[in-house]
Amino acid sequence: MTKDLNYYIGIDLGGTKIKGALLDDKCNIIYSHIIDTQAELGKEKIISNVIEVINFLINKSSFNKTNIKYIGIAIAGIVDSNNGTIVFADNLKINNYNISKEIEEKFNVKVKIINDANASVLAEYYYGEGLGFKNIVMLTIGTGIGGGIILNENLFLGNGSAGAEIGHMVIFYNGIKCACGRRGCFEKYASTTAIKEMTKRFMQKHSESKMWEIGSIENITSKLPFDYKDIDDTANMIFNEYIDYLACGLVNIANIFRPEVIILGGGITNQGDKLIKALQNKIDNNVIAHNNTPKVKLVIAKFSEMSGVIGAICNIIKR
Ligand SMILES: [Zn+2]
Repeated sequence: MTKDLNYYIGIDLGGTKIKGALLDDKCNIIYSHIIDTQAELGKEKIISNVIEVINFLINKSSFNKTNIKYIGIAIAGIVDSNNGTIVFADNLKINNYNISKEIEEKFNVKVKIINDANASVLAEYYYGEGLGFKNIVMLTIGTGIGGGIILNENLFLGNGSAGAEIGHMVIFYNGIKCACGRRGCFEKYASTTAIKEMTKRFMQKHSESKMWEIGSIENITSKLPFDYKDIDDTANMIFNEYIDYLACGLVNIANIFRPEVIILGGGITNQGDKLIKALQNKIDNNVIAHNNTPKVKLVIAKFSEMSGVIGAICNIIKR
């Protein structure tokens, strides 16, 4: 490492993990460090954990601290990037808190924050599966569903940066209650949490299911129905129902934005081709005017684990 280069620290502050990395000015990760968020211990602990990750990354570097030009933080929640405030972060239980000021004062390095799903779509747009496309929608499927939207080569934020909440698009009127206050939101049917809930429901109805090999309902993972779908009817039913829900949301997105590409990120993408093929087929056959208009391509994200970290730095050096 030469001394006159610029380096960046990217942080992804999520509900379960804090991921951090030192990056160069091409967004290459030099090394990384991941710890538990410990969100249940409250705001002070969360912030001290963020500081711990940043300290680790700085102390590991062989160069002077002044080579670090910026700290970028991707946050699971609605943020005001202009003043550095976390406006509303439900799973961190942090509202109206100026995280940038606190971190800036601690390290004497400038800080810029961004929503984590917006960071992820930037990472894919500049360095991943979105490269070369003008209109991109990215969905990060985890405990909830995060959305990031690039329209005409610009990140769409909405008023107060509160837009792109694709997970809270209703796909089932009067359906399952959501933490946002409405019923039937997309993420209540298509997140990994939703798969687990659905699997639980189906298993309780089907005592003959081979999935009972796991012993107890407590051992259900979001992978389970995927692992059993070729040898178990119940698992196959869950798979098909899940695909229908996810496809319903994807076709809505395709009809509204008509992006060249929809990128899927998050743990669910480990299911790979099985998942993409089934979904692509439904998009191709259900998007409006599908016989007369360009296709909407569905792909799996290039950056899974570190997309928020990379995107937090793209947000600084590319925009
Ligand atoms: Zn909702």
